[in-house]
Amino acid sequence: MNVENKHIVVAGAARSGVAVAKLLKKKGAIPFVTDFSSISSEFAEQLRAESIEFEQNQHSEKAMNGDFLVLSPGVPTSSKIARNYLNTGKKVFSEIEVASWFNRSPIVAVTGSNGKTTVANWLAHTWKVANQEHLLAGNIGTAFSDHVDETSKEITALLEVSSFQLDHIDQFKPDISIILNITEDHLDRYQNDFNMYAKSKFRIAENQDDSNWFIYNDDDPVLSNYAEELSKKEEAPRLLAFSSDNEISNGAFVRDGKLILKINNKEEQLMQIGEIGLSGTHNLQNGMATALAARASEIKNEFIRESLQTFEGVEHRLEEVRNLKGVRYVNDSKATNINAVWFALDSYNMPIVLILGGRDKGNDWSVLEHQIREKVHTIVAIGEAKSAIKNQLGKVVPNYMEADTLKQAVKLSKKKAKRGEVVLLSPACSSFDMFENYEHRGNEFKQAVLDL
Ligand code: ADP
Repeated sequence: MNVENKHIVVAGAARSGVAVAKLLKKKGAIPFVTDFSSISSEFAEQLRAESIEFEQNQHSEKAMNGDFLVLSPGVPTSSKIARNYLNTGKKVFSEIEVASWFNRSPIVAVTGSNGKTTVANWLAHTWKVANQEHLLAGNIGTAFSDHVDETSKEITALLEVSSFQLDHIDQFKPDISIILNITEDHLDRYQNDFNMYAKSKFRIAENQDDSNWFIYNDDDPVLSNYAEELSKKEEAPRLLAFSSDNEISNGAFVRDGKLILKINNKEEQLMQIGEIGLSGTHNLQNGMATALAARASEIKNEFIRESLQTFEGVEHRLEEVRNLKGVRYVNDSKATNINAVWFALDSYNMPIVLILGGRDKGNDWSVLEHQIREKVHTIVAIGEAKSAIKNQLGKVVPNYMEADTLKQAVKLSKKKAKRGEVVLLSPACSSFDMFENYEHRGNEFKQAVLDL
């Protein structure tokens, strides 16, 4: 795509919007950045330094008149500016799409409702262990636009991709794509339509051909159905499945406690699953996805094995904070939906004090009922979701409590937890009612635990 001298409007002036505007300017385009809210001084400064024109607190006439629109992931497709472009037949692209026009690297891209950041980091760890050049970018704190000029055939681009970025791709074509799972999340951005949300994730494979790979979770019925459809497509990508439950004809699975890779009818025993550095079924799945992507990239088994053994996980995802008087305190602040909490509970075989709550995204809390009955003796609820939690789960546990602050919740939890038990913050909600973001919530939890 030649962008030279094109008038390109970028909606949203945060990390990826500013990164793509800078990239476009470098490539000879005339970007104009528009933000409906005020722009932080840091980003405004960066735009000024590059002599990129911008406006804030509005979308002016000029913002509506670009040759095409680049949409930051934070700006919904239903926004006035996106609708305006789409209604007048003009193109709308996501940041990752635009960055990919300038890409020279093989791409491994991972999406899913949960586990994207974990797997993206696990891939980077694997490439590091194997001493292979790589860059890590996307929905992970560094925009692909910031790094795309460093790409080359020898460097693998490892990308975390969200459904919002996939909504507006056109040519984006990963050599290896991974979908970890598709469960309810962000439905507010998809007209409360699960199929629409699922379809946006499937788009990761839409431009792939038979020289590429598609890796998916066969235990997820939405994905196994999709894979069957995809395999009928002409020049479909080569499929690799993973399953923690069943044997797979092509992909990764468990037999007698061993992780097996079976590719092109050749079976290899990789390792004992007990040797994997991270616990929980979800991390077994994340590890299998990572192993398959590495295998498809011709990384040797010895390095994959070492990576699976030594990866330490990512902060705020089932992060062990402290063991105090035989009680383990675990920070899973990033568990912002029910499915993540389900897997968190599934990861422990001991009694749990569970801290839940925050801003409710319309959760169906009953999904957790079975596990809570089995393992949780105390729920401490915080934030706006309190009444929903009380209504749906209050009677499921022997002790239901509420706290005004996270610090108070930690203190209450300490009183209830006995030696050999776990205090788990896995809130199933977003954090914006009480905190800046999930990192802020996780850090407050850790501080409160360290202060005990
Ligand atoms: P994402 O980047 O997709 O939000 P993260 O790796 O940040 O995913 O993890 C988000 C939450 O989901 C954490 O609570 C984590 O423990 C949990 N999680 C990680 N991998 C999975 C998985 N494969 N399935 C379900 N939950 C997962």
